[in-house]
Amino acid sequence: MALANPDVIIIGAGAGGAATAWRLVSKGLNVLILEAGGRFDPQADYKLDQPDWERHAFPEKKNSQGAVSIAELGPLNSDYVDLASWSQTRGKLAREGKRKPSGPGYWHVQGVGGSTLHYVGEAHRLNPASMRLQTEFGVGYDWPVEYAELEPYYLEVEKLIGVAGPTEQGERWRSAPFPLPAHPLSTSAQALVQAGQQLGMQWQANSRAALSQPYDNRPPCNYCGNCSKGCPISDKGSADVTFIRHAEASGRLTIKTHCPVVGFELSDNGDITAVSFIEQGQKQRLSATSVVLAAGAIQTPALLLNASQPGAKEGLANGSGQVGKNFMETLVWNSTGIVSDLSNTHMGLPADAICWDFNRPDAIEGVVGGCRLTSATREIGFTGPIAYASRAVGGFGRKMKQQMRQSFGKALSVGAIGEFLPNPDSYVDLDRSQKNSLGLYSPQIHSSLGEQELRRLRFMAEKSRALLKQAGAELVEEFTTYDHFSATHVFGTCRMGTDPLKSVVNAYGQSHDHANLFITDASVFPSTGGGEAPSLTIQALALRTADYIVSLKTT
Ligand SMILES: Cc1cc2nc3c(=O)[nH]c(=O)nc-3n(C[C@H](O)[C@H](O)[C@H](O)COP(=O)(O)OP(=O)(O)OC[C@H]3O[C@@H](n4cnc5c(N)ncnc54)[C@H](O)[C@@H]3O)c2cc1C
Ligand code: SF4
Repeated sequence: MALANPDVIIIGAGAGGAATAWRLVSKGLNVLILEAGGRFDPQADYKLDQPDWERHAFPEKKNSQGAVSIAELGPLNSDYVDLASWSQTRGKLAREGKRKPSGPGYWHVQGVGGSTLHYVGEAHRLNPASMRLQTEFGVGYDWPVEYAELEPYYLEVEKLIGVAGPTEQGERWRSAPFPLPAHPLSTSAQALVQAGQQLGMQWQANSRAALSQPYDNRPPCNYCGNCSKGCPISDKGSADVTFIRHAEASGRLTIKTHCPVVGFELSDNGDITAVSFIEQGQKQRLSATSVVLAAGAIQTPALLLNASQPGAKEGLANGSGQVGKNFMETLVWNSTGIVSDLSNTHMGLPADAICWDFNRPDAIEGVVGGCRLTSATREIGFTGPIAYASRAVGGFGRKMKQQMRQSFGKALSVGAIGEFLPNPDSYVDLDRSQKNSLGLYSPQIHSSLGEQELRRLRFMAEKSRALLKQAGAELVEEFTTYDHFSATHVFGTCRMGTDPLKSVVNAYGQSHDHANLFITDASVFPSTGGGEAPSLTIQALALRTADYIVSLKTT
């Protein structure tokens, strides 16, 4: 039985943990996942089928977010005031001259499926050129893995979660087609394809973890446009309905929900001998041959730093001093305008079209690190009347109703995400002001934008504005991480590398310090890529780490 005697304990059932579990049980190992949150039931917990769906935040279930604090964010760089966030109805969104968190700042979900329950489902491979930043461009840190080594794993993940995509994606070469054909483009995506053509940009269908046809006993997408509020029909390839479902069917996976891990025991030789966790208010401990940490790029370093003890005074796996360092966040630009002759832009798959033209690390003049542009109308929430009324239309009474009728379904948004290079002022450490309900210090995020990020943001802004102008849009909102901390993709806090003095894990996600400790979440990324969505890469790396764990067991 997995529970009584697991071969492997995995901490966290999100993107990385779920993929690791699936691979290990597929190879015959018994696996126990300890998950801090609970399970989500699409029928009861996702509100898209209810009349007041737009009023519900996601996730709103009790205990569905971990404790995190965000340290004071720095003053705004006055050379870049042209990048300030604003909306038609609220004016400037950050008025105090300093950056502030948007909502929780770190957007995530605690529960089976992790943040993939919230994710939009863009499914990207990394641009191979962005994996060698240090060697080729003299910045950041190289990946110890090459694209060619990851390619078969990418294919397997795409097949398992059901990715729909185009036939070609430029530098992201593939040895086989996507398992599903690309989705039809929405009216907003078509408008950007056309505007892009007029400006000499290539736009194409985005690769999406959303089913374009029935697949794996799941129905195709109904184009409701609200993937980040929890997909009610389970066609989105979140980890719970893909990796976890298949892994549980094997009978070799046990998941203990509402069981946050709080500590680790070490042997004299540095192996992890037991993991401790809280179950129904009681501290418990369990052991396994290998331990896989997959709590995400914020909680993973916090768990390691909290676990300082004799033999690991600076925290577990931290001989290099790099745990929590190199924190990389989501560098985001969004522009939205109203285009009077468009309609129904609230309908369709979010992020259905993409432009990769500026994605290479050397694609933007004077900056290292690229970006990508997507059709973002639905991704940023212009899907219902409340969004229009509160962000684009304003006013009240008859005039407001008139304007709503004139504007609704006509929002056109361009979203851009860019490379984020590590800098010494961006890191995760512990908030030592007080212990949380688990008796641990919560992670504290420190975020700062470097000059390269600001210049990249300006480029992203210029391209987004040019596209909207070309499409005939009248701007109503711009949102940017120039003045907000708003991270959906977080990386780098336990980076992988060949040098144990500069990295936390090796190319197989194995701790340099503790031979039976592995990490399979986004914290191992040495660099972010030029705005690619990370989950496909997290999961490809996780399968590779799982294969390595199996190989250790059989040799
Ligand atoms: C709104 C939004 C949109 C996004 N869109 C996309 C997208 O389109 N494409 C894409 O690729 N990515 C997207 N992402 C990012 C993606 O969801 C994350 O990068 C990915 O889920 C990270 O995987 P992970 O394994 O590192 O962590 P997570 O998926 O966050 O999983 C971590 C797990 O660990 C658990 N955990 C934490 N602490 C403990 C503990 N102490 N004990 C036990 N368990 C613990 C958590 O509950 C969670 O289940 C999006 C994210 C958000 C929020
Ligand atoms: S648009 Fe498709 S994938 Fe997204 S939530 Fe709706 S049905 Fe699910």
